[in-house]
Amino acid sequence: MSNVTEPIVCTSCGAVNTEGAFCINCGTALPTAPAAQPQTYQPTYTQPAYQPAPTVVTPVPIQEPPATTQVNGIKGYNSKWNYTPIKPWGYFGLNILFSIPLVGLVFLLVFSLGGTKKINLRNYARSYFCGLLLVLIVVILLLIFGSALMAYIGDFSFDYSLF
Ligand SMILES: [Zn+2]
Repeated sequence: MSNVTEPIVCTSCGAVNTEGAFCINCGTALPTAPAAQPQTYQPTYTQPAYQPAPTVVTPVPIQEPPATTQVNGIKGYNSKWNYTPIKPWGYFGLNILFSIPLVGLVFLLVFSLGGTKKINLRNYARSYFCGLLLVLIVVILLLIFGSALMAYIGDFSFDYSLF
């Protein structure tokens, strides 16, 4: 804080006083100089009012549905796949391959799960797999109901004690 007192203009007569509490001209009590006032440090930091983060509304571009790619008459063409058709003998070979116990099942699963670039092979493997599941279900049902049926028939076993 500086000791230099700022000139105070008298409110009564307008004389400029460099120091003192009263006017040198008229003797009126001078208004206390603002600089003379002990300035207590007031932290000017004020808590900023909570401002919610501005919600950035990004305009969602209206996505046009992708035009169905149709290459060589194939709907939903994907260059990832090889669309070469399987020849009849190819299907015949696949049937034999898939009917091999265990090995056939492995090939079937690999092809079904997309382990091949040939989409026709994948789809055929899937169809074969579905057929296999159907056969499995039928076999299981036959076993369940068959055994139940056998047990039912068993109750009517021939009673030899009658003779
Ligand atoms: Zn004065």
